Amino acid sequence: VSSRVRVAVRLRPRNAEEQAADADFADCVELQPELKRLKLRKNNWESDTFEFDEVLTEFSSQKRVYEVVAKPVVESVLEGYNGTVMAYGQTGTGKTFTLGRLGDEDTAARGIMVRAMEDILADITPETDTVSLSYLQLYMEMIQDLLDPVNDNIAIVEDPRTGDVSLPGATVVEVRDQKSFMDLLRIGEAHRVAANTKLNTESSRSHAILMVNVRRAVKGRSEMNVSMSAENGHSSSMMDSLRPPIVRKSKLVVVDLAGSERIDKSGSEGHTLEEAKSINLSLSSLGKCINALAESSAHVPVRDSKLTRLLKDSFGG
Ligand code: ADP
Ligand code: MG
Repeated sequence: VSSRVRVAVRLRPRNAEEQAADADFADCVELQPELKRLKLRKNNWESDTFEFDEVLTEFSSQKRVYEVVAKPVVESVLEGYNGTVMAYGQTGTGKTFTLGRLGDEDTAARGIMVRAMEDILADITPETDTVSLSYLQLYMEMIQDLLDPVNDNIAIVEDPRTGDVSLPGATVVEVRDQKSFMDLLRIGEAHRVAANTKLNTESSRSHAILMVNVRRAVKGRSEMNVSMSAENGHSSSMMDSLRPPIVRKSKLVVVDLAGSERIDKSGSEGHTLEEAKSINLSLSSLGKCINALAESSAHVPVRDSKLTRLLKDSFGG
């Protein structure tokens, strides 16, 4: 991945209702995939043009979307870098379709999470490497454990020395095969529905966060060990047998963001207003961080929200 942030737009096909309602009208959106542009019609003679790193049309398959959007990130995670894939958009635009579809009946329908795990499991060495995951919901600046709903206010801890972000209170489950991964996604989704029913809210008002941790035993000599062996005067083969195996840790974070229509929409009731405020806070601070990263700014303002604090060590790795 050459730049720190890449942005793709995906247009979903019209649903039956939209087709029926809008039959006489020309599309308000025009895609120019070769130019990586999207034109948004303002009226009959004017439109705004937006540029993206990738433009995916309503005919783009799930496979293609994965390959263009997520595969480069998954590959760098397998090489030891942290990476994040996020879906942003209004409710009903296809975020969960793109990220979370399991594709039980139809493997072509599998979304990014399932395809990413397939590639990760295919690449690791089961004898020495481990893959584990946590599945979380962030609602009203509270992190809830979707694998164990009793944990409903998980703290974010940052290692002051390494800057690594961790969630000591979150359930971490090792993933050995694709089937157990799919089961975990199903359990998490069921808990998400239950938690939101209890809180009397909708999933569009919270962020769903899948964190996949990859730990790999790295072969070969690290620079540190080479210099150690030189200092101590030991032969490097002796050092090889003495030193503990080097473990390389990285993580992939997949975020299904709250519906962007919640921004700046304050309902009349207290609860909704508070929800709107917290969604505003996280999405606007996310926007600021992404801008800072895209401009290669030295300062990325992660402190403002839990969402960006959580993603801190996955930004710009
Ligand atoms: P969101 O998570 O953004 O609220 P969903 O992923 O739930 O949106 O998608 C809304 C509806 O549109 C769902 O019924 C979904 O199956 C359908 N949909 C979304 N994207 C596509 C697509 N690319 N092709 C076909 N149907 C889609
Ligand atoms: Mg959704």
